[in-house]
Amino acid sequence: MGCEDIKKKRRYESSQEYLRKRRLRYKNNTNGCRDRIKEKTKEYDARFKIRLGPEHYSRYTENVGLKSRYGITIREKEWMLIRQHNKCLICKTEFYESSPRATYRPHVDHCHTTGKIRGLLCKKCNLGLGYYIDSISNLASAARYLYKHRH
Ligand SMILES: [Zn+2]
Repeated sequence: MGCEDIKKKRRYESSQEYLRKRRLRYKNNTNGCRDRIKEKTKEYDARFKIRLGPEHYSRYTENVGLKSRYGITIREKEWMLIRQHNKCLICKTEFYESSPRATYRPHVDHCHTTGKIRGLLCKKCNLGLGYYIDSISNLASAARYLYKHRH
């Protein structure tokens, strides 16, 4: 075995050791996190007396997601729903908050430049705006195009 080979072997072993340790650390850590999240979820759901099926998000998880992604709380989202009469602001489709299908749940629409929340949209409208890169002129010309080819 040459000098280089020994070095390579040593590096390999140390990387294996490193990976093993990291895996262990990660495993322990996530297990700890998971338990903590479970506990907090229980607390939160009990406090607000909410019972959801296992396929749905718990209120706690949703609240954490909303806060980290858009900086709003679940309460603010609920107020927005009331203000919008539980309907999409563009196509007026009614939302089904507890639907297991994302299509029927409200989606938080925000401006990608300022990060400001614009409102709650259905999945299709929200994706539509995203596909048009939030561009008013693109959307207007799409509308003109559809109008030109109407039947
Ligand atoms: Zn819509």
